[in-house]
Amino acid sequence: MLTALTFNVQQFSTEDGPGIRTTVFMKGCPLRCAWCHNPEGMSPHRDLVWYDARCIAARECLRVCPVRQDGILPYSALTLTPSGMTIDRKHCTLCGKCAEACPSAALEIIGKEWNADELIAELLKDKVFYETSGGGITFSGGEPMLQIDFLCEVLPRCKEAGLHVALDTCGEVSSERYERVIEWIDLALFDLKIFDNAKHRQATGVGNELILNNARLLSSHGVPMWIRTPIIPGYTDDHANIQSIARFIHDALPTVERWDLLAYTNLGKPKYHRLDLPYVLENAALLTRDEMEAVWNVAYDIVPVARWSGATR
Ligand code: SF4
Ligand code: SF4
Repeated sequence: MLTALTFNVQQFSTEDGPGIRTTVFMKGCPLRCAWCHNPEGMSPHRDLVWYDARCIAARECLRVCPVRQDGILPYSALTLTPSGMTIDRKHCTLCGKCAEACPSAALEIIGKEWNADELIAELLKDKVFYETSGGGITFSGGEPMLQIDFLCEVLPRCKEAGLHVALDTCGEVSSERYERVIEWIDLALFDLKIFDNAKHRQATGVGNELILNNARLLSSHGVPMWIRTPIIPGYTDDHANIQSIARFIHDALPTVERWDLLAYTNLGKPKYHRLDLPYVLENAALLTRDEMEAVWNVAYDIVPVARWSGATR
């Protein structure tokens, strides 16, 4: 049986589609958005992270780590100093022994494998809440479509169980993959971030031709869509960008039911530090309410189902 690698299965989610939902966050993403607030979803592999505030310096982790290097004894893939824990990610094998041994859960392996039986059993636990709220399941990430074979196994079983299924996707996978799952998708949560191709490539690592084509494809198959645009200072918030996305939605995506403009959040910042990843928005401030309303006005003029949400300063 196939397995999926997830970094979270979140019950009682209310942000990822209608009603109360369980959101399955799957690992791996083909984009590298500078502002991503789920950087633990980028890698298709498991990750080891250390939580500063939980560490009581018990040092059990150092003792159990099996990594040893010739000529450097004692040595483990972990080094604890007064300034914090250093993880030697080149030598760490992600065995998880340090996380198991830590008495205060300061180390954690991010990434859990599920087979379809296990995941379906987990998803069905909240069926009554989906039914009473008009909710269901959302497959998100990262990019869930990278684990397409698993989706092809689990989505029909979700439908057999009478669950509403949403797919939260960045659009950067082959169109054939969407064609394989389209019959089981009740709603697509689709990201449109930057309309200019070169700027999109600069900010996310990939151009947007395939993404725009896949948005058209889903809409032409009649899939209801909620578009999502993160409003990121200096990247996506210029009015010309919002206007271009608005025209595209208006002209090419007849099944769009809602367009969410999501105010930049810096809540992901500590996650970058835990993963030893650079965070280019380190000093970026939240947008003001006026700035978000100005962006929303541009969007709403062309696409009257636009709305905005999120924290402002
Ligand atoms: S996951 Fe395993 S190899 Fe990596 S630091 Fe922990 S104990 Fe060492
Ligand atoms: S597409 Fe989404 S999950 Fe992937 S890097 Fe961008 S913001 Fe993160």
